[in-house]
Amino acid sequence: MFRSIRWRIAIPFLLLILASTAGLGFYFSHFMRDHHMDNLRSQLTNEARLVGDGSQPYFGGQEAELDALTERLGQQIDARITIIALDGTVLGDSEEDPAEMESHADRPEVIEALATGVGVNTRHSATLGYDMMYAATPIELDGTVVGVTRVALPLTDINAALAHINRTIALVAGVATAVVILLSLLIASITTRPIKELTRLSGKIAQGELDQRIEIASGDEIGELARAFNQMSAKLKETLHLMATDRDRMTAIVNNMADGVIMTDTEGRVTLVNPATERMLQISQEEAIGRYLIEVMAEPEADGLLKRCLDTGEPQLGMVERAVAGKQFLWVMATPLEGGSLLIIHDLTELRKLEMMRRDFISNISHELRTPLSSIKVLAETLQEGGIEDAGVASEFLQKIDAEVDKLSQLAVELGELSRIESGEVAFDIKPCPVSQIAHQASDRVRPLAERASLELSLDIPPDIPSVLADRERIEQSLVNLLHNAIKFTPPSGRVGLSAEVHGDKVAISVTDTGIGIPADDLPRIFERFYKADKARAGGGTGLGLAIAKHIVQSHGGDIWVESTEGKGSTFTFTLPIAPF
Ligand code: ADP
Repeated sequence: MFRSIRWRIAIPFLLLILASTAGLGFYFSHFMRDHHMDNLRSQLTNEARLVGDGSQPYFGGQEAELDALTERLGQQIDARITIIALDGTVLGDSEEDPAEMESHADRPEVIEALATGVGVNTRHSATLGYDMMYAATPIELDGTVVGVTRVALPLTDINAALAHINRTIALVAGVATAVVILLSLLIASITTRPIKELTRLSGKIAQGELDQRIEIASGDEIGELARAFNQMSAKLKETLHLMATDRDRMTAIVNNMADGVIMTDTEGRVTLVNPATERMLQISQEEAIGRYLIEVMAEPEADGLLKRCLDTGEPQLGMVERAVAGKQFLWVMATPLEGGSLLIIHDLTELRKLEMMRRDFISNISHELRTPLSSIKVLAETLQEGGIEDAGVASEFLQKIDAEVDKLSQLAVELGELSRIESGEVAFDIKPCPVSQIAHQASDRVRPLAERASLELSLDIPPDIPSVLADRERIEQSLVNLLHNAIKFTPPSGRVGLSAEVHGDKVAISVTDTGIGIPADDLPRIFERFYKADKARAGGGTGLGLAIAKHIVQSHGGDIWVESTEGKGSTFTFTLPIAPF
């Protein structure tokens, strides 16, 4: 309670008022008491002298009259009068019987009067039961002291007057205290109202409600504080807005970066990962945050880079090869940051794959070229060495040379076609085409082959199948390639089927055979250039047919895939978009 401003204002004032009224009251009541006592003292002294003068004639024989005198004079001045002989014997008293009174020789005022000429004493009268002031003066007769007059008055009047004064002072102090308290409360509540308002609004700001304004009512310090508060909250809002905009911008950049971003603290614990990192490392943000990098990436090289960066405070670069399915090649840069480090991860897997494919491609081409070329060379050499003389041999060898040259030119044609499709040079002539027409044309083209291989070729094309958007000639060629493969890889008396059905907004066309199938290990690579599942059984193909078909289908916005069981057969399916009506 005393911590509040109202009491801090009230209490000093209260203490001041109480101290000053107490001091003033104390001084005033003492002053009044002294004043009254002085007056009373001189009044009683004077009266004692007068009574002394009046009693003088009675000494020397008429002392018995003194009691009556004291009674008379006592009534006149309304005070107690006592006349005492030098030996202390009470000769007369206005209120008591002198005969019954003890010796007054030991009374302090009497002793003092005899010693100095005036004696005054204030004490509690045992006889009367209240405070009395006694004033005594000696009675002189012809220059000799014969006795002492004493006049006494009770102090009850003075005490009553003083009590009244004290009461008045206490009343004034009480009223002043009440007024001070009320005033303090009033001042405090006027002063603290804006402070309370400030406190309330600060609380709201702390909870994020930044649109808080205080009505500035005064030009005093509180008004200034309120003005400063308003400026502060406006500035705060502006700063927070700027920070939020900056943060949103940074978040958008980090979230949309193709490169992975990881931030760690100085201990190497992950504090941030972006979506690219989640994709690259196959880990969710929730799983990664708070973990050590080694737990998130499980790669000692990456962890080493980070540790070196944290230890030396220098940026570190390195390649990290992750032993995940299909291998991942990551270029990692760790940069020291205030309170941790920043890792940028660039996924080079695709680039590496492309590099490797280019290398494979070249070695595949050279291999594909070498076989027919070396047979041509052998055939030509044999002819040169005399074979040409034998017409039969010459004709057979020339036929073989012709067949090898055909193979080479088919390879050249297919390679050219593939490279043109890949580079986007080929302009597809895409139009709505009826699926059954494509299917029938393609099957008609391969039927003689199927018959020669003793295979059953069946079609299952529902009559209501919608038309597709396709470059008819190219799609038909792709379908012929699939059928051709199916025939090639199916032993006699097997079956090859061609079917079509609607798949969402696409039509799926499938070629199914009951052939040798494809080993599971080869399935993922079957659409690669030059890939042949079983080289011994590939039977003179170039290994480019499926790669070309995949590119053609993908250029149509479709997809191609294979399901196969070794020894049982395969189903190649591709999809094409349905043509709008
Ligand atoms: P190729 O000209 O050698 O047939 P493709 O690209 O058409 O080249 O086929 C690549 C390889 O895929 C073939 O060598 C073969 O091993 C495998 N393959 C394709 N179709 C089938 C199928 N229907 N059954 C079994 N294997 C197949």
